Amino acid sequence: MKVSMADLPAQYAALKSEIDAAVLDVLATGMFGLTPATADLENQIARMSGVRFGIALNSGTDALLLSLMALDLKPGDEVITTPFTFVATAETIALLGLTPVFADIDPLTYNLDPVDTARKITPRTKAIIPVHLFGQMADMTALTAISRAHNLPLIGDAAQAIGCYHHGSEVAKWSLFSTLSFFPTKNLGAAGDGGMVLTDDEELAEKLRYLRFHGSKGTYRYKYVGLCSRLDAIQTAVLQVKLPCIAAWNESRRQNAAYYDSALQGIRGLTIPYTAPENVHTYHQYTLRVTGGRRDDLKAFLAEHGVGSGIYYPGSLHLEEAYLTYGGKPGDLPHSETATGEVLSIPIMPELKPEHREYVAVTVREFFGV
Ligand SMILES: *Cc1c(COP(=O)(O)O)cnc(C)c1O
Repeated sequence: MKVSMADLPAQYAALKSEIDAAVLDVLATGMFGLTPATADLENQIARMSGVRFGIALNSGTDALLLSLMALDLKPGDEVITTPFTFVATAETIALLGLTPVFADIDPLTYNLDPVDTARKITPRTKAIIPVHLFGQMADMTALTAISRAHNLPLIGDAAQAIGCYHHGSEVAKWSLFSTLSFFPTKNLGAAGDGGMVLTDDEELAEKLRYLRFHGSKGTYRYKYVGLCSRLDAIQTAVLQVKLPCIAAWNESRRQNAAYYDSALQGIRGLTIPYTAPENVHTYHQYTLRVTGGRRDDLKAFLAEHGVGSGIYYPGSLHLEEAYLTYGGKPGDLPHSETATGEVLSIPIMPELKPEHREYVAVTVREFFGV
């Protein structure tokens, strides 16, 4: 049997007639940029995420970049974030001439540790970017308290967290800006790149709409220096077809996770994912922890048996070559550094059939001899 981490052809096959019709319709109208459908999609996703405004963009990376641009920060200003994330979170800080300051993670949730975050605040700190990693929100209760005490805006990187809740409130309620990615393998994926900023602030939403199109409103007059970052109409059409499925897809991911939780608990040298009681997890990834230096052996064993797996992430960003200029040293962020050597994500996609997940669990157990 073969089980891969993602099966996008299977997702497409299930919705083929609707997606084909929607895409062909865009081709027939010849309107490829922002259309009334963009506003519909923005409103639907904003509402389900707990805020009033969505600004559709051409990637999750641009969603982070434009959120930071909207804050008018100055070169040298510091932005605290996690080193245990996809690079875009730190990259966008660095690209704007701002200084990424990495705080360590909570070893249970892999999310930004509020205690270390507070410790890293200086007079130059101007924002905090927690990432809601793997489909579980960061400790936004503690981070909100820090944000209020120091008057620091929060940008929640929710690329992996559409549909998440913390203390019963939707993901976007917890940050000034929240950023989504519609990269094809995310829980809600386009047929190419896409992203969105979510906010409840009307003025900033307006500013983001300028920024996504050259700082202009399409009249060849320019209020800000902006980017070209529209979500194109074909991606919008595909996302409109898929959006009604997101709740059921997230529920399938949770069911797959519950199956693995019971099949893989109590194995020596293996730790199943932890969900904080105040969070609703959407399992963008189901991430195991393999101790005793055996993670790479398990990955190889799974591959030999036809089971895909992924290491998210193999390096802590403070030690990556591109980010060493910010002064990171081995040992600075021990929980993040340890996690990079121990994490292994196994297939959790909604398209997983019961026989697939059983085979994955049996193969993991076989590796541990149980
Ligand atoms: C995917 C991802 C991004 C970037 O999104 P793109 O749409 O690929 O640009 C940013 N942050 C995190 C945590 C992600 O997983």
